[in-house]
Amino acid sequence: MSKFHYFALCALFPVAGYVFADGFGVKSGNPLITGTPYEVHDGTRPQPRIVENAGSVSVKPPADAIVLFGGENLDAWTSNNGPAAWEVKNGAMVAAKADVVTKQSFGAIQLHAEWRAPAGRPVNGQSGGNSGIFLMGRYEVQVLQSHNNKTYPDGQAGSLYGQCPPLVNATTAQGEWQSYDVIFTPPVYEGETVKEPAYVTIIHNGVVVQNHRPYLGPSSHKTLASYPKNHPETGPIRLQFHGDPMEFRNFWVRPLGEYDSEK
Ligand code: MG
Repeated sequence: MSKFHYFALCALFPVAGYVFADGFGVKSGNPLITGTPYEVHDGTRPQPRIVENAGSVSVKPPADAIVLFGGENLDAWTSNNGPAAWEVKNGAMVAAKADVVTKQSFGAIQLHAEWRAPAGRPVNGQSGGNSGIFLMGRYEVQVLQSHNNKTYPDGQAGSLYGQCPPLVNATTAQGEWQSYDVIFTPPVYEGETVKEPAYVTIIHNGVVVQNHRPYLGPSSHKTLASYPKNHPETGPIRLQFHGDPMEFRNFWVRPLGEYDSEK
């Protein structure tokens, strides 16, 4: 479909346009991502190869981990400075009403979390099975039911949302638990200059999908990300409520210390 026909179709059939709006195969009309021939949310960007795998890898929290959700309560979380808006059901925290944010702030961390989209729920592109883990409240590791569900590649599971698709698609079937193991380091500033960007490594169901990848800046939608002049050294983790009852469990982090340090 040409761009002209696509936009004509969107104008004539707003509902169909909505369905296609986050679909694959079409340009987005958003800015080019620096250093690539692709636009932000570009539907023509190559779809990551599918890697069949054994599914979620459950890792118990090591002794020095901070458990953010162990299956019982949302004590570590808040919503809009009040009680966490999500629910606890059958040992999982279930997205509802608003984002949840950790009470504690973190810089460099190792993170483990398991998540799933409930079975039987209609999923289409960015709709139906969407959440996100925002590191420092800013850098999204996209959570999306991406098994048998095509969308723009920089918006699928394991992407740096709006910036970088995963190396491969390691998502298993809807209703099954998925695991993320994430290693994150915040950006390094010298005054108002970014000396080092934020980096992330993501392992999805035991499969490396991001290999020490730089963020272009805090995650944004439809626009090109860039770093602000001022940046905190730590920030809380935020989980996105995107209208879908996504579930999380076994959620823990380990702040990463310095080498040659006894702390
Ligand atoms: Mg999201």
